[in-house]
Parts: sequence; C-alpha cells; structure tokens
Amino acid sequence: MIMRGQKIVLITMAMVFSLFIVAQTPTSRAMSKKDTTTVANIYVTTKSDDNKDNLIASLSEKNDKQIAKTAQIPPTTNHKKFLEESSDEFGEDVDADFEVPSDELYGFSWTSEYLNPYKIKIDDLPDSTWIDCTGFVFPVAKSTEKKITSDFGARRRRYHYGTDIGLKVGDTIVAAFDGTVRIVDYEARGYGHYIVIRHKNGLESLYAHLSKPLVTVNQEVAAGELIGLGGNTGRSTGPHLHFEFRFLGNAFNTNKIVDYASEKCFADSYCLTKAETFRHKSDVEKFKQMRYHRVRQGETLSHIAKRYGTTVNKLCKLNHISRTTIIRSGRSIRYR
Ligand SMILES: [Zn+2]
Repeated sequence: MIMRGQKIVLITMAMVFSLFIVAQTPTSRAMSKKDTTTVANIYVTTKSDDNKDNLIASLSEKNDKQIAKTAQIPPTTNHKKFLEESSDEFGEDVDADFEVPSDELYGFSWTSEYLNPYKIKIDDLPDSTWIDCTGFVFPVAKSTEKKITSDFGARRRRYHYGTDIGLKVGDTIVAAFDGTVRIVDYEARGYGHYIVIRHKNGLESLYAHLSKPLVTVNQEVAAGELIGLGGNTGRSTGPHLHFEFRFLGNAFNTNKIVDYASEKCFADSYCLTKAETFRHKSDVEKFKQMRYHRVRQGETLSHIAKRYGTTVNKLCKLNHISRTTIIRSGRSIRYR
C-alpha cells in the first residue's frame, strides 16, 4: 500500500516536472521570439503597402487581430513611440530607419529641377498618413495685421494652391519644420524667388515671392531657422509670402495643420487623409473644366451664347452679371 502510494506521488511529480520542462523548451521560447519578430517585420514592410497588406492578410485572424490593427499605423513619431515601447517589451528588433518618415515616403527621389517630380495622383496617395507636427514654427516672423491675404482655393482664373501671408519686404522667413532645402529657384511669371524644403515628417513646404533667398540646395535647416527675406517677386501684387504644404507633390490647404490665429499647429500630429486633406480634388476638377471667352468689339452676350451652344441666362449666372450688363471688348466671359 505504502509502496503504491509513493509510486503515485513519484509519477505525479515526474509529470509535473516534465510539463515544466516542455514549457521551458527552446521551441516555446523561439515561438515567443518569432511573434516579436513578426511585429517588427510588419513595421519594416509598411514602406510598401502591398507587402504590408500581404503580411497583414497572412497573419492568422484569431491570434493576431491586435497586431494587424497596430501594423496599419503609418511611420510617424507616434509610430516611433510605439516601437520604442514595443522594444522594451519585445527586445531590440527595432528598425532605426523609421525615425525619418520622409525617407520612407520619398525614397531616393531627390532633385532640385522639378517642384513635383513624383507625379503621384491624389487617387494614388496612401489612404492615411500620420504627420508629426511637433517643432513647427510659423514661417513669417512678423505678419501684417491682416495675416491671411489670400486663402487656398479657387480664384477667378487659376486655382490657388497656397496660403498668402501678409508681410513687409525684407521681413524674415523661417523654415516651418526641420528639413533639407530641395529647391532654390526663380520664376519670373510665377513664384518669383522661391524655396522648397523637404521635411523629415513627410511634408514639403514652399515659400514664394521672396526678395532674397538665404539658403542653398541640400542645406539642412532647423525649424525656425532663417531661410530668406519676404518680398514681392514673380506674379505678385503686393508683398506677401505664398506658403504651401505638399505631400508627395500634391498641395493641400496649410490651414488643415496650421492655426493661423495662434500661429501654431492645431495638434502635435495630423492624420493626413486622401478623403479629407485632399477634399479640394473635386473643386480642382470642376475648376479645370471652366472655359472663358475674350469679348471682341461688337459682341453681345447672345453672340457668345450662340457660339458656345449655351444660353444668355447661363452666361449671366456663371459670370454674376445681368442681361443688361454692358460687356466691353477685352473682358473674359466664362461660358463653361
Ligand atoms: Zn499665393
């Protein structure tokens, strides 16, 4: 009886001990290491949406829903923060390249020849990207009382892709974020003297109509660093800074990020989305459809209506005029 009792105790102890050994086998430890590597790999592959999507799809749904969810966070400071936190938890498998989102977004594309060498259509942009807005400095040191002299959006004849900030000729212009100067150029009929900076956070900013640029191509600049003096060069009807933000070559309204009242960013990060940040896309498309006719001597609204297969009423509506408005020669009348 005693012998049998001891045997049972010994067998039970042996079973518990072997279970303990199984739990500590290298296979089991390798599994948890593998999970860690998986998390890091997903981050590494976020530079390619296809790879990322494939990887997310390949994760087994029941175990890795949470990992798949976090894998969709784009590379930003938040992302970096997540990685730092993750590294404490999982080990040292963190890719340092994620510290510069612009490298991920623009890769090796670097030219001072073209403002938009990327030629990426709005439809082909990533659905959403987090932009780190910390460190922002308002580009005009002393703006005039009427801070915004012209907003982003449709103008009578051409779409305005920037925000015009009032200033006096010679006022200091500073870099909005840390970055590297990509373009310093002059356009007599357009931007005048202008500068383009690529920022580490993934945006590019443009500063136009300067009286004097004070940086050179490839120069690294810090947020708030002097880059030029404000002016009235190029197509400009008074001293101002034409200020643009661009993402992969596409301009969007700076007021999505910058609160012009406080001259600060609305938040430390901005979720740039195709749908909201580039909401103006449909406006631009409508705008591109617009057509104008230059009135010649002796022409009337009904002549123009007949010529373009429309009606006088439609012309009046498009041009905010009445049927009795006298249209002088040389005036542009919109007919579409
Ligand atoms: Zn402008």
